[in-house]
Amino acid sequence: MLRKLFLIAIVSGINFGAFSFTALAEKKDTWSIIHAGTLLADARNAPTSQQSIVVKNGKIFDIRKGYISPSDVLADVAGGVNITVIDLKDQFVMAGMIDSHTHVTGEREPHSLEVAVTRTSSEYALAGSVYARRILDAGFTTIRNVGGPREAVFALRNSIKKGQILGPRIVAGGLTISPLGGHGDHNGFRPDVFGKPHSGICNGADDCRRAVRNQIKYGADMIKYVATGGVLSKIATGTGQQFTDEEQNAIVQAAHAMGRKVAAHAHGKGGIDAALRAGVDSIEHGSFLDKGSIKLFKKTGAYLVPTLLAGATVVDIATNKPGFFIPEVEAKAKLVGPVMAKALYSAYKAGVKIAFGTDSGVSVHGVNGRELLLMVKAGMSEKDVLISATVNAADLMGLAGTIGTLDAGKAADIIAARGNPLTDIGTLLSPSFVMVGGVTAVE
Ligand SMILES: [Zn+2]
Repeated sequence: MLRKLFLIAIVSGINFGAFSFTALAEKKDTWSIIHAGTLLADARNAPTSQQSIVVKNGKIFDIRKGYISPSDVLADVAGGVNITVIDLKDQFVMAGMIDSHTHVTGEREPHSLEVAVTRTSSEYALAGSVYARRILDAGFTTIRNVGGPREAVFALRNSIKKGQILGPRIVAGGLTISPLGGHGDHNGFRPDVFGKPHSGICNGADDCRRAVRNQIKYGADMIKYVATGGVLSKIATGTGQQFTDEEQNAIVQAAHAMGRKVAAHAHGKGGIDAALRAGVDSIEHGSFLDKGSIKLFKKTGAYLVPTLLAGATVVDIATNKPGFFIPEVEAKAKLVGPVMAKALYSAYKAGVKIAFGTDSGVSVHGVNGRELLLMVKAGMSEKDVLISATVNAADLMGLAGTIGTLDAGKAADIIAARGNPLTDIGTLLSPSFVMVGGVTAVE
C-alpha cells in the first residue's frame, strides 16, 4: 500500500510537505572508531589489548588490531565521510550488559494500593523513559521487561527503537499471566474496583492459551507467567505452586507455538519443577530449588535468572523500614530473601546456565550493577558473572546474533570501565563509557 502511494506521489507530483526524497538520498553513513586499551569482545575468551572497533550506522563494521586512524578506514570505503575517534586507550571495553529481569515503568512504593487505581499508562510510560535512561547509563544496553502495564512498556520500547528517546533496547513481555487471585492479579481491593480481571488473568488450560495469545496479539516479545506465589503480591497465599501443571503446559505450548520465549516466576520447589517440566526458557528467582530441580534444569537447558538484588532489597526494607510493607508481604520477604544466594550457588556449582537479572523496580533503577557484586559474593567467578550478563542473557532472549559479544555485524552496544572487572567486578557500577546502537550515552 505504502509503495503504491509513493508511486502515485512520484507520478502525480504530490507534495508530502517536510518529506523530501533528496534528503533521503543524501543521508550519510555515520562512522566512529573506538580505541580500546583492553577489549573483552567475548566474555568466554581472554581479553586482548590495543584494538580498534569500527562502528558504522549503529553496528560493528570491523574489529582491527592496533589503533587505526580514519584514513585506514577511508581506504576501504567511499570518501567524504566524517569519522569520530573515541579514545578509550586507558579503559576496559566490553559488550553492553543485559538485564534479563526488569520492571522499567515503576519503582517500589510504600503501601502502593493507591497507585494501582490512580496511575495512567501515560504516566507509567513517561516515568519509564526516565528509569530506562538510568539503566542505560549504568551500562545495561538491553533489558527484558518481564511484566508491567503493557501499553506503557510497548510504547517505551517502540520509541527507543525509533530513536525518539535514548534508552536500552527493550525485549518486552505484556501483562503477567497469572491465575485469579495469584501473584500477577490485583489483590486487596473491593470487588467493584477491579471487577474485570486484566487480560493476563486466566483459569484452566484453554483460558490460559487465550491469555498468552492476547499478550502476543498486542505486542509482547516474550511471555512471563507466575508459576508460584510471590513476595510482593498483597495477599497471604505463600510462595508455592499456583498454576496447575496442565495450565503451565498450555501457557508454554501456546507461547512457543507463536515463537515467544517463556519466563516463569517461581519461588517454591513445586512450581519451579512444574515450570521446568512444562518447558520454560527461564526460571526467575528459583529461591527454593533443590537437587531434583537442578536435574530438570540440566535436562531442559533452561536458564536460572537469580535476581539476588530483589532478595537483598526486600530483606533490607522489611528489616529497616517498618510499615513500608503490609504484614503479609513483610513475612514473605524475610522468608524468601535470605535463601536466594544459596539457591544460585548450588545451581551454579552443578552447571545450571545462569542469566543475569535484577528485578529492577523492586530495587531502584540504575543500581542494576549491584547484582554483579551479589553474584560474586554468592560464589560465582567474575568471568562467569560477565558471561551471565552478556553471552547468556543474549542467548536467553534469542538475540545471540545481535548482542552479547562484540563482533562484526552485531549491534554497537559497547561499554567501558576504568578498572578490570575480571578482578574487580565493582568497577562496572559506574561505567566510564556507554554506547547503544552506535549512539554514545555516557562518556
Ligand atoms: Zn519481577
